[in-house]
Amino acid sequence: MSESRGAKPGPEPADRVVIGITFGNSNSSIAFTVDDKAEVIANEDGDRQIPTVLSYVDGDEYYGAQAKAFLVRNPSNSIAYFREFLGKDRGANNGVFNSFKSIDPTYCHAAAHPQDNAGNVFFSVKDKDAEGEASSVSVSEAATRYLRRLVTSASDYLGKKVTSAVITVPTNFSDKQREALIKAANDADLEVLQLISDPVAAMLAYDARPEAVVEDKIVVVADLGGTRSDVAVVASRGGMYTVLATAHDYEFAGVQLDQVLMDHFAKEFIKKHTTDPRSNAKSLAKLRQEAEATKKALSLGTNAQFSIESLAEGFDFSSTINRLRYEMVGRKVFEGFNRLVEGVVKKAELDVLDIDEVIMCGGTSHTPRIANNLRNIFPESTKILAPATNVSAINPSEAQARGAALQASLIQEYEANDIEQSTHPAVTTVKHISNAIGVVTINPDGEEVFTPIMQAETAAPARRTVHIAAPKDGGDVLIKVVEGGTHIKVTKPEPKAKEPVNGDKGSDADSDFDSEEEEEEEKREKIWKLGKQLAEAAIKGVKKGGKVEVTINVLADLGVTVTAREVGGKGGVRGNLAA
Ligand code: ATP
Repeated sequence: MSESRGAKPGPEPADRVVIGITFGNSNSSIAFTVDDKAEVIANEDGDRQIPTVLSYVDGDEYYGAQAKAFLVRNPSNSIAYFREFLGKDRGANNGVFNSFKSIDPTYCHAAAHPQDNAGNVFFSVKDKDAEGEASSVSVSEAATRYLRRLVTSASDYLGKKVTSAVITVPTNFSDKQREALIKAANDADLEVLQLISDPVAAMLAYDARPEAVVEDKIVVVADLGGTRSDVAVVASRGGMYTVLATAHDYEFAGVQLDQVLMDHFAKEFIKKHTTDPRSNAKSLAKLRQEAEATKKALSLGTNAQFSIESLAEGFDFSSTINRLRYEMVGRKVFEGFNRLVEGVVKKAELDVLDIDEVIMCGGTSHTPRIANNLRNIFPESTKILAPATNVSAINPSEAQARGAALQASLIQEYEANDIEQSTHPAVTTVKHISNAIGVVTINPDGEEVFTPIMQAETAAPARRTVHIAAPKDGGDVLIKVVEGGTHIKVTKPEPKAKEPVNGDKGSDADSDFDSEEEEEEEKREKIWKLGKQLAEAAIKGVKKGGKVEVTINVLADLGVTVTAREVGGKGGVRGNLAA
């Protein structure tokens, strides 16, 4: 995954004021770093998750939560869910006017509709005055106007003009989309120091915490947003990140959970008033906003209110829902998130047992059911970093903006041209070893034991050293360096004789429940499977209680050098292997 930065000459490094930005389809955030700690900035409305919406009323421009509120009364002059269209044209339309192939305008139905101008996407809004002619605002112009508002909010907060930013983007953002984003930012007078990928931004936020131990690990980053969910499996090896697999999904995200609640309450309303509030655009918009608020309340509490004044045909509506009911009516959507995450782990050709951490970010990751479901899918040893499952989890809505701000502060002193060569944590495109490399020694019971020295997916070049204890009384130590793969050993539980149920058959539901209760889970464990032998060395006459040091050096072309010597002793053995 390459990273890119703005081409426009920016300010001198010493004159920069930098921030981190996440620019989502639903919400955006701005963050800055003070004393090596990143903080998300609240805008003038007090919001840290700032809706990515612009709205024009009588020639005034509103943005964020105020603009989002106007989606009920002023939808046709409001621009929402447009980030996704940056750098995309209308696509081939088979001669059908306004038929978009490369963009999905679904979410814009409740706002200004994207239109086609010679292959470019634009919105028609009355941005000068309510009576006047509508203007054509291109997607790029909308992004520039919105980013300008974000930068102004950040500048007001910091008391100085923000000049530069690191912006996060999804891993599947194309070069064209990156260029379009950089151009939109430059037009808003913002220098783009670097675009970093969303999952890496979240990992940076975690790895920068004072308590973080930078260790080799495999992490799933589940970025669950409003209109899309992006899941990535990332190997972190010696501070280098390698993306192993990704998935991008538009079927399971926050709006589908809003829909579940909208349908639930619409049905209740129909029962009372025999009219469907979803059939009228304004009622639908009210329903949508209240459903989202109720959904968020259910992440915090176990009960939530749902009330709307004059929902449809002049009828007010008020109801409540508890979390259990919400989880029941939304079951299919919740299961979708499980499948999404499991699918990416499989795509990376890994098992859930291989995953050390699941970082949950994006607003939808606040949902307790989603985090709890993942808790059940992964083994105990996997940390599920979400508010519902881990007290030290970073606020999922803030992790990526914080990561971007940290990266911005790390690279701000570099000349623009040097940033591309920056050695700071980055997603790598370099080669990485596909199998672990380790040593096989004989334990006191005479069994072969594999100790991994370098994990699979370590980016080359890399060097690791281990010390191996010699036999108690010293003597000759035989070191075998081999490649190791893992496989999952499944131990089925001993079948138990079933006890008769005393004639009480119970209902179907009951018996299902019983059998689940009784069934012991099979045991799954990760076992090393030895592969190709790379080197063998005998270190003669190691002294009593001595140790042998083995160093593995993987070169950039994946050639391997192995060195073995007695710690504190003279000489040693060295061998080279071609890539
Ligand atoms: P996308 O680009 O996918 O549209 P985004 O990155 O712009 O999303 P996020 O802020 O990450 O936006 O996610 C927005 C979604 O998160 C919305 O559906 C919102 O309702 C949901 N959300 C925010 N806070 C909570 C919460 N506390 N509980 C449940 N859902 C929440």
